[in-house]
Amino acid sequence: MGFDFDTLKVQAGYRAQEHNNAVSVPIYQTAAFALGDSYRADRLFSFSDEDPIYTRLSNPTVDVLERRLAALHGAAGAIALASGMAAVSYALLNAAGKGGRILTTARLYGGTVDSFTSIFPDLGLEIDIVENPDDPAEFQKKLTADTKAIFIESLTNPFVTIPNLTAIADIAHAHGIPLLVDNTVATPYLLNPFEYGADVVVYSATKALSGHGNVIAGIVLESGKFDYGSGKFPQFAQPLWFLRDENDVERNVLQVFPSIPFTGRLRAVHLNYLGAALSPFDAYLVLLGLETLSERVEKQLANAKAVLAYLEGHPHVGWVRHPYVQGNPYRALADRYFPKGVGAILSFAFAGTEEQRRIFLAATKIFGYQANLGDARSLIINPAGTTHVELTYAQRELVGLTPDTIRLSFGLESAKDLIADLEQAFAAAFAG
Ligand SMILES: *Cc1c(COP(=O)(O)O)cnc(C)c1O
Repeated sequence: MGFDFDTLKVQAGYRAQEHNNAVSVPIYQTAAFALGDSYRADRLFSFSDEDPIYTRLSNPTVDVLERRLAALHGAAGAIALASGMAAVSYALLNAAGKGGRILTTARLYGGTVDSFTSIFPDLGLEIDIVENPDDPAEFQKKLTADTKAIFIESLTNPFVTIPNLTAIADIAHAHGIPLLVDNTVATPYLLNPFEYGADVVVYSATKALSGHGNVIAGIVLESGKFDYGSGKFPQFAQPLWFLRDENDVERNVLQVFPSIPFTGRLRAVHLNYLGAALSPFDAYLVLLGLETLSERVEKQLANAKAVLAYLEGHPHVGWVRHPYVQGNPYRALADRYFPKGVGAILSFAFAGTEEQRRIFLAATKIFGYQANLGDARSLIINPAGTTHVELTYAQRELVGLTPDTIRLSFGLESAKDLIADLEQAFAAAFAG
């Protein structure tokens, strides 16, 4: 290996010779794969042969995506899923096992926060929330004997805050548990969480990873370095009939997938039985988007900087939240973890009445009003009423989410046009 990110993102994990010399990754649009003879079937069903059997479990197109993302992260294993929520929920369930607790924060995607109360307790998984994630000592204080993982987002939405990854990773490891990082907003181009102690990284590939607003997809990756055989994770040591060998002897995940126990178990158990498989066509779309990740993110960063300069000091803007704003407390962490630049989103306070805010949101012509981010098109939204509506009022207070918060996600348009669009929308809102 040793290739740079930009080389890997268009070439890793694929050998044309193995696919009829097709230059573009073929879409293997098939549910099942011929088993050949029953001897081969025995090998396939006892995991001694790795060829695909059935697309819910694996598929050659999806496999290229998994290998490519693993290469981009220097990760041991990867698994693609049908959505970012599947990636988050399967990863948390996999780490927690029965009766486990996950230590996390309220600075998370709204759907993730809501899942903590609406579904996870039914599945035997409880959540503990660190109120001030800026203080790593608070993670230490909230650990219990049942805590099985710490889960954080590396760059948060909508306020672009940054956790101290290495400090939190050290706390997790001292307790014998893995650090799980949702790296969706950051993207692997700007940050590889594995370099700072993460053990598992998850993505909503729906966002900047695919980057064209045309697919729902999720990814889970593992470093391959964490020891799930320590006794703290009995679910990894439990023999499973599905993992039996050719002599019908049950085996556990650690025996069958010694180098990738986390994604191996996730595939054998969660993907297998809960079933959120990524379709080959959607894997193809993510692969296509991934080819331009660096170029897109660079343009989005440039647009973010230009609009930031426009918003700072604007008469109808209360505050702007982004590490590059004068006095923002996350600047040092941004410089440390994001040397290429940080975040293609920002939030600001709309300084006007609710009615003016509603006019403003309706008046943009280039910024699309929709619940997504990381798209090639620039987007605008009021998170308190939309993307983060699942947060309770107490949780909103914890993260500082007010009704006047407006979040921008930068696309690939001209910065001049983006600024002009905001200016005409402000003019429309304050016309009366
Ligand atoms: C969107 C998002 C998710 C959920 O992903 P889907 O692909 O919409 O299921 C999870 N985490 C973060 C940070 C997100 O932005």
